[in-house]
Amino acid sequence: MSVKKLVAGNWKMNGVSADLDQIRAIASASRGYEDVDVALCVPTILIDRAARAVPGFSIGGQDVHHAEKGAHTGCTSALMLLDAGASLTLVGHSERRDAQRESDAEVKAKAEAALSVGLNAIVCVGESLDIRELGSAVETVMGQLDGSLPRSLEGEAELAIAYEPIWAIGTGKIPTAPDIAQMHAAIRRKLRERYGSAGAGIRILYGGSVKASNAKEIFTIADVDGALVGGASLNVEDFIPIVAAASGR
Ligand code: PEP
Repeated sequence: MSVKKLVAGNWKMNGVSADLDQIRAIASASRGYEDVDVALCVPTILIDRAARAVPGFSIGGQDVHHAEKGAHTGCTSALMLLDAGASLTLVGHSERRDAQRESDAEVKAKAEAALSVGLNAIVCVGESLDIRELGSAVETVMGQLDGSLPRSLEGEAELAIAYEPIWAIGTGKIPTAPDIAQMHAAIRRKLRERYGSAGAGIRILYGGSVKASNAKEIFTIADVDGALVGGASLNVEDFIPIVAAASGR
């Protein structure tokens, strides 16, 4: 099944007011690629300003708390993200799974919290280098999905999966095309098992050192429905060629 590709940037802990011009430039250049969905996941504190700066362009968060509200100092609820102007959020990025010790169960609760208020959620999964070298990458990622996928897909909000091998993030290394194909096919099977025919339409993004120079090849791999891009999403010159590659140009 061919779906519209999604290219989402993850700005991580980068971006202040001065960078709104870069967001404007990315949003404006993205308009030339209507066959691709483009989004930027920015720091929470920048969401409101970014969303106001680029009406109609998708701005996202990078994390969300699972609870609706309450005594959770420093945290942000799904409704707060939505209220600030976000239309999506990442959950379970490997940097959070590692540094904040987020478990699969927490990631699942976060995804469910996002979807329940109408916020699209990108659930991130991926194996470490040790696991890849042990030959257990597929098994490990399937285990992460078993624990992290939301119970159901009710409502309008969209679920997407980002397969991001941890050893490929920010390193310039990427898996071979057959390895990406094998993992994405396994993820697709899992989504069909879990959600039936709706699983066929869930976008599976590849993430980890995607750049203009490798994007074209990555987007030709079966079941790669887009990309989650870190470093190369920080400026228009690096990011838009990736969007163009997703558009087949
Ligand atoms: C990421 O952290 O989500 C990511 C894909 O980073 P990079 O593109 O810089 O490897």
